[in-house]
Amino acid sequence: MRIVVIGAGIVGLACAHALVADGHEVRVLDRDPEGDRASHGNAGGIAVTEILPASVPGLWKRVPRWLLDPLGPLAIRPAHLPKLAPWLRAFLEAGRPERVSHATAALAALNGRVYDDLVPLLADMGLADDLRRDGALTVYETERGFEADAWERRVRAEHGQRLEVLSGAEARALEPALSPRVVRAVFDPHWSIVADPKRIVAALARRLAERGVAFHKGEARALAIRDDRVSVALADGSAGDADIAIVAAGAWSGALAQSVGDRVLVESERGYNTTIPQPGIALGRQLIFAEAKFVATPLAIGLRIGGAAEFAGLSAPANHRRSEALARIAKRYLPDLETRGGTAWMGQRPATPDSLPVIGFSPGRGRVVYAFGHGHLGLTQSATTGRIVADLLSGRPPAIDPTPFSIARFGRKLA
Ligand SMILES: Cc1cc2nc3c(=O)[nH]c(=O)nc-3n(C[C@H](O)[C@H](O)[C@H](O)COP(=O)(O)OP(=O)(O)OC[C@H]3O[C@@H](n4cnc5c(N)ncnc54)[C@H](O)[C@@H]3O)c2cc1C
Repeated sequence: MRIVVIGAGIVGLACAHALVADGHEVRVLDRDPEGDRASHGNAGGIAVTEILPASVPGLWKRVPRWLLDPLGPLAIRPAHLPKLAPWLRAFLEAGRPERVSHATAALAALNGRVYDDLVPLLADMGLADDLRRDGALTVYETERGFEADAWERRVRAEHGQRLEVLSGAEARALEPALSPRVVRAVFDPHWSIVADPKRIVAALARRLAERGVAFHKGEARALAIRDDRVSVALADGSAGDADIAIVAAGAWSGALAQSVGDRVLVESERGYNTTIPQPGIALGRQLIFAEAKFVATPLAIGLRIGGAAEFAGLSAPANHRRSEALARIAKRYLPDLETRGGTAWMGQRPATPDSLPVIGFSPGRGRVVYAFGHGHLGLTQSATTGRIVADLLSGRPPAIDPTPFSIARFGRKLA
């Protein structure tokens, strides 16, 4: 089949990789093939054990405190609130206990496949050694914070995760850079990191080009299904057609889904970080700071410190005071950290209200396939998403049930 993949982020490229392997003729369309994107600057975590959705019972109690801190872990730009309202309503709904159990089961199934699909993908690019399987350490500066996460540890244990609870001293034995203010920690052996997310995107694009995949520069504005074809209208007024279009345009995918009548809620959840080439400390693995909600990742290019969730729409300018604030807070936990010389970055996570990606056919319109909305886990789930998309297109049963990821969960089709 002739397939056009819209979006050259990690998800679109992983789809292209799986589709080429199945013998399809694949093109990749991106409005800025060389430009920056979420897939370049993320924290590099292969967070397979992150199986709980963002919206959980009782979360709303913590939200006002976060919102009051102008550089805290959660921010909503007031001008964006009216547009965000339907997404927020759906987010709160998604926190009902039965919905959380459903999403957790779906995420556990998807993440359970990650190494099966990611390890061969990295090996094919010659980057097998870029995957560092040293686990991750979640650290707490209060017993209260540690206790607040007890139910999450219980749910994870029920899904077979072997988490190891450590004292502050045991955490420092593992990561000597940690300050004495860390009183508790949880070691997660399943988690891993990559050496540099951007290097993976670049290597994947190179590998695809070697296999004959053509990269086109252009902005898709709308899709239209005509008999046995899908046509892609571009912003410059031109159009192209294919047998199948894969929508993998990250946080920008909503408008393309709507152009073929599919309702979806996807928002840009902006995250920030600073990458410090000479941090003056060494970490053995990714650290997750539970109370302050940020992470530190020892990448090949330096220590990346980041996190935050900011809802401001797709085009508001970045507020890099957030990146700087995160580096400053990190010094509380890592006292010898040298924060000078860092590079600040912002990226747009494609976030759905239920934390599940959108993967699968446009219902009833077999020419459009979705692969977007991976939120905090796009790098983690990229190879598995590519595999599911390729399975669906070849008629093979995917390794996991794709039903929970269908766009149909957002309700009726638009007219
Ligand atoms: C601070 C931060 C930390 C993160 N940490 C992690 C982590 O540790 N682990 C993890 O798994 N994930 C992490 N993520 C999430 C991850 O980065 C994203 O989920 C993932 O990169 C999304 O990939 P994507 O290919 O869907 O989108 P993107 O990387 O955003 O790519 C989308 C592409 O589509 C193109 N495009 C958009 N619209 C159009 C159009 N109309 N026509 C043509 N092209 C278009 C864009 O130019 C872009 O190249 C993090 C994200 C952030 C912001």
